Amino acid sequence: MSVWERSVLGHSVNGSPVRAAAAGKGPPGLILGGTHGDEPASTYCVQRLMEHPTMERVLQAVRLTVVDTVNPDGLAAGTRHNARRVDINRNFPTENWVPDEHNPEYAPGPEPVSEPETRILVKLLEDLDPRFVLTLHAPLAVVNYDGPAEDLAKAIAEVNGYPVSGDIGYPTPGSFGTYAGVERAIPTVTLELGPGDGPEEWAISGEAMVAGLLRAASQAGAGD
Ligand SMILES: [Zn+2]
Repeated sequence: MSVWERSVLGHSVNGSPVRAAAAGKGPPGLILGGTHGDEPASTYCVQRLMEHPTMERVLQAVRLTVVDTVNPDGLAAGTRHNARRVDINRNFPTENWVPDEHNPEYAPGPEPVSEPETRILVKLLEDLDPRFVLTLHAPLAVVNYDGPAEDLAKAIAEVNGYPVSGDIGYPTPGSFGTYAGVERAIPTVTLELGPGDGPEEWAISGEAMVAGLLRAASQAGAGD
């Protein structure tokens, strides 16, 4: 089993720790789950991924940092938003960020990075400078990518059979994908799991995630 070094990155609105785990050696990669608290399968699948036997091989080539629950208050309450009813995935300081709240589902917050959970991820990206990011959501059953990550997205989609999309079909100002992938050119794959519970979605996409990480690891090994 891989030995994960645990740390606390910061705290949510309600004071819950936002935890990270890191392991491996090589260029850095980042894995995120639980940005939306009503998508608990994303946290479950990230946790299962960490314990997968093939991770030993991945961690020979890349150093992974994992945040399985970006939004612990939302997960505790079963809500998409954080405790201030802000959608973390619309709160990143992108060039196209808008204060528009016509749909409370996507409430972007009073200003970019107004939320502690967003701040934690912005700082983590700066500190890590990851070569790739895999972030899990649900329930659209699609592999979306932002930035130069089409091959990574395809490596995942080949295994779980989901469609690959470079555009999720609607604008996402303030989203993590726009911030990291589009504006910073960090290869960013958003795996949208299906609507099932954690074990169901793991059965569908677990090996696909591993395949994606193996691809990222081989790219890291081939680089610099
Ligand atoms: Zn989501």
